[in-house]
Amino acid sequence: MKTRTSRFCWMMTVMVNMVLGSAIAAAGETEKVKERDEVDQKYKWATENIFASLDEWETEFAKLEKIIPDLAAFKGTLNKGPSQLLKVLKLRDDTEARLDRVYVYASLLSDQDTRVGEAQGRKSRARTLAINYGQALSWLDPELTAIPFETVDSWMKANPDLNLYRQAFDDLYRQKKHILSPREEELLAMTGELRSVPGTAYSLLANADMQYPTITDEDGNTRELDDSAFYLFMRSTDRRVRKDAYEAIVGTYNKYRNTAAALLNGAVQSHILTVKARNYDSCLAAALDTGNVPVTVYNTLVDTINENLPLLHRYQQIRKDALNLDDGVHAYDLFAPFITGQKLEYSYEQAVDEILTALEPMGADYLMPMKKGFDSRWVDVYPTKGKRSGAYSSGTFLTQPYILLNFHGSYEDMSTLAHEMGHSMHSHFSRGTQPYVYSDYSIFCAEVASTCNEILLQNYVLDHTKDPKKKLYLLTEFLEGIRGTVFRQTMFSEFEQKIHEMAEAKQPLTADTLGATYGKIMRKYYGPSYTHDDLVDNYWIRIPHFYYNFYVYKYATSYCAASNIARRIMDGEPGAREKYMEFLKGGSSKYPIDMLKVAGVDMTTARPFEDAMKIFEGLLDQTEALLQQVAVAK
Ligand SMILES: [Zn+2]
Repeated sequence: MKTRTSRFCWMMTVMVNMVLGSAIAAAGETEKVKERDEVDQKYKWATENIFASLDEWETEFAKLEKIIPDLAAFKGTLNKGPSQLLKVLKLRDDTEARLDRVYVYASLLSDQDTRVGEAQGRKSRARTLAINYGQALSWLDPELTAIPFETVDSWMKANPDLNLYRQAFDDLYRQKKHILSPREEELLAMTGELRSVPGTAYSLLANADMQYPTITDEDGNTRELDDSAFYLFMRSTDRRVRKDAYEAIVGTYNKYRNTAAALLNGAVQSHILTVKARNYDSCLAAALDTGNVPVTVYNTLVDTINENLPLLHRYQQIRKDALNLDDGVHAYDLFAPFITGQKLEYSYEQAVDEILTALEPMGADYLMPMKKGFDSRWVDVYPTKGKRSGAYSSGTFLTQPYILLNFHGSYEDMSTLAHEMGHSMHSHFSRGTQPYVYSDYSIFCAEVASTCNEILLQNYVLDHTKDPKKKLYLLTEFLEGIRGTVFRQTMFSEFEQKIHEMAEAKQPLTADTLGATYGKIMRKYYGPSYTHDDLVDNYWIRIPHFYYNFYVYKYATSYCAASNIARRIMDGEPGAREKYMEFLKGGSSKYPIDMLKVAGVDMTTARPFEDAMKIFEGLLDQTEALLQQVAVAK
C-alpha cells in the first residue's frame, strides 16, 4: 500500500539532506581524519542495540529468506474474508519491519566505513532480499483493490482489528480511478525502462561526460572544478574567482544545451504520457496526487512567494550596496558572503548544550527523550576514515533512531545536528505511537520537524550573539538559508510548472525556449539590482531535480510550515506546542495536508508562506541595521 514505503522513505530523507547539505559538506575537510577505533565509544552510534553480533544478523537474515515464499503462497486468498485479509496484512507488516531492521543495520555498518568490502556485501544482500520480498508480494495491492471497497468497508465494520488499516485502504482505493485495465497497465509498465532513459542519460551527461576547465583560485593556484568546488568558489570574496568559476561551469553546460534540452523534453513528455494514459488534468495534478496534495497548496506557495518578491529584491539591493557591485548583482554574486573570518566554533558537547537550551520552548516531553537520545548514542559524531560524507537520520520501527554526522565544530555542523535530531525525534514519537503501517511520516512532512529545530536554534543563537560582526555573519547565513530553500526552490518549481504547461500546449521545448523561460524567471525573482548575463539562461541544465517530477516545491512548503509552527511555539501561543507534539506522534496516520492541520498549519492558505516571509523580512531589517553599525565601526 502507498503509505507503506518505509524503507524508501528514509532513503529519500537521506537524499534530501545530501542535496541541501551539499554546499556545506564540502567545506572544512582538511583536518586530520582519525581511524574509527581511535574515537571514544560515546561518540559512536550504538549499532549493537540492533544486533549484538554479525551472527545474530545472519540468523535473522536466514529466517526472513524462509518467510518470503510463505507470503507468496497467500496469493488468491484475500477474498476469503476479513480474518484472512487481516492475517496477511499483519504478517506483511511484521516481515517488513524485520526486513527494515536487517537493512538498516547493514546500511549503518557499511556507511561507518565504506572501505570494508564485507559491509558493502551485507548491504547489497539486504537490498536484494528487500527486492525479492517486493516481488513476492507484488500481487497484494492489485488483488485487494479488485475487491470492491464496499466489501472491504463491511469487513472493517465486522472486524475492528482490520479497521486499523482504514487510512491505508483509503489511500489505495483513492487512486484506483487512475488505474487501467490489466493489459493497459502491462503496456504502461513496459514503457518504464524506456521512460527512464532521459533521466539516466542526463545524469551520465552531467556527471560522467562533461569535462570542466580548470580555473585560477584566489592564491594563483590552478584548481579543478567539480560540483562541491563550484559552491566553494561561489562563496569566494574574490569576484574574479566567482566569475571565472561560474563561466567555466555554465559555459560548459552551454556547449551541451541542445542535448540537455532534448533530454529534459523527454522527461516532460513522459509525464504527459502519464497524464493522458491515466486521465489526469495536468502533469502538476498527476505528480501531486501521489501524496494527495491539492494543487491549491502548490499554487498558493507560488502566488504568495511572488507577492513577496520585493523582499528578495530588497535583499539584492542590500547585497549590491554591501559588496559595492556598481554594475549590479550578477548570478555569480548571489552566494558571496557579506563578511568573512567570523566563523563560530563549538565543541560537540557545547553544540548539544546549545541545542538543548535553544529547544527549551518545546517543553520537557520533547527535551527529555532528546537528551536521552544524546546520552544513549543515537549519534555517530565525528568524521573517520572511510565514513560516508554528509549527514542523515536513519533507524526504523524496531530500532532506536540513528544519526550520521561529520562534525567539525562550525555553526553549520551544530545546525545540522539540530536538523537531524528533528528527524530522529519525529521518528521516535511516530514509531512510539503508531502501528507499523503508519509509523513513517510522508516526504511532504519529513522536513518540517527538522527545519523547526533549525529555526528555534537560529533564533536562540541570534539572541545570544552580541558581537556585531559575528551576528552579521549569522544573519547572512540565515538569509541565504531562506533564499536557497524558499525563494530558489519556488523559482525552480515555477520553471518546472511553466515548461510542463508549454509542453501540454504543444509548444516546443528547445534550448532556446527553455533558456528564455529560465532567464525571464531569474529576472523576475532577483529584481532591479540584478544584472542578467545571457549565459545564465543555461543554468537550468545544472538542476537534476527537474527529472524528479515536481519534487523541489516540497523544500519550500516544509520550510514555510516549520516557520509557522516555530513562530507559534516561540510566541507561546496556547496549544501550539501540544498540537505540534500530536503532529510528531501522528506518522502517516493521516494525509500530509491533514497531518499538518493537526499541528495547526493550514497549507491551503497563504498564512504559513507569509510567516516564512516575515522571518525573512525580520532578518533583512537586522542585517541592514548591522551593516550600518559595522560600516561605522570600520
Ligand atoms: Zn532533513
